[in-house]
Amino acid sequence: MSPSTVITHISTLATCDPTLGEGPLGLVRDAALVIEGERVVYAGSAAGAPPADNRVDAGGRAVIPGFVDSHSHLVFAGDRTEEFNARMSGRPYAAGGIRTTVAATRAASDNTLDANLRRHLAELHRQGTTTVETKSGYGLTVEDEARALAVAAAHLEEVTYLGAHVVPAEFADDVAGYVDLVTGPMLDACAPYARWVDVFCEQGAFDGDQARAILTAGAARGLIPRVHANQLSYGPGVRLAVELGAASADHLTHLTEADVDALASGTTVGTLLPGCEFSTRAVYPDARRLLDAGVTVALSTDCNPGSSFTSSMPFCIAVAVREMGMTPDEALWSATAGGAAALRRTDVGRLTPGARADVVLLDAPSHVHLAYRPGVPLVAAVWARGELVPAAVPFGV
Ligand SMILES: [Zn+2]
Repeated sequence: MSPSTVITHISTLATCDPTLGEGPLGLVRDAALVIEGERVVYAGSAAGAPPADNRVDAGGRAVIPGFVDSHSHLVFAGDRTEEFNARMSGRPYAAGGIRTTVAATRAASDNTLDANLRRHLAELHRQGTTTVETKSGYGLTVEDEARALAVAAAHLEEVTYLGAHVVPAEFADDVAGYVDLVTGPMLDACAPYARWVDVFCEQGAFDGDQARAILTAGAARGLIPRVHANQLSYGPGVRLAVELGAASADHLTHLTEADVDALASGTTVGTLLPGCEFSTRAVYPDARRLLDAGVTVALSTDCNPGSSFTSSMPFCIAVAVREMGMTPDEALWSATAGGAAALRRTDVGRLTPGARADVVLLDAPSHVHLAYRPGVPLVAAVWARGELVPAAVPFGV
């Protein structure tokens, strides 16, 4: 049997299980958490905790589940510092900027892509994120998409085929031809590495019919749809996602009443990516409207070199609370259990018996400090699969 560890003297434990404590976060005061091997075996009052082999004193600080970042783009080379600098000097963001990263990614070696991914994963980890989804989408050839996914799959369980990120320059006059490639030879090469299929359904990227063809072809190969929807303009993405039973519709910045009703009536999670609006000086999505309609909402970083180069879920929580109408409790739930829902996972994003022991100790008495103290590094310790990871040491290297 694996040695067990009790984390005790926890001021507030967010279990994300309402049957274990107060409110949707299932908050337990004066709590303890017991880990055995990779799993949580106890989450509840300190007084009721079973004996354990090792003891960690949380010192009256808060404990939360590791963040679940359900939307990122981490297999790439180069950066877009100049584009960001220009945009902050008054130039609007357009979807075509992705092509800059495509050129750098195609030119990079496998080793460079792998090293870049590991560096970004380490950065996420230090900030309390223990489950990461990432996508292809900067290769846009059969070979470059497949190798991006192979690099991702070497490190991550949640890998998404996004051959339909943008139409590459060489297909600018033949979008139908590119859709045939994405739904044909590229899908054949990529499907073995991926769990999900995604499409950027947007003016300047792929329209509703093209998105439908791409998602349907992916689904026929066993990939579950998720959609970049309604980011830069109104469009068919959200309703298509719900109709096809997508796990998640992401961005959701421009929504009609019909879009909100569709999300509220289906099982598709609404994933909001406030780093994107922050980094492009765009209008934020209205989380309050979605929550009040009964939509399941996830928060994610959308970490990518163009429109949202942040890996910080605490930053996204702070922005969601300040700018999008979420309460601190809702924002934490969406960054943990909500992200898990967007990935159709029940073993992460919560601290309940049987869940994976992905645990974050905050250097704060309450999870509310994630929004109350924006920009302050509050992640004091991270356990991933029950292993304490020193914050300064990147994992997987
Ligand atoms: Zn994205």
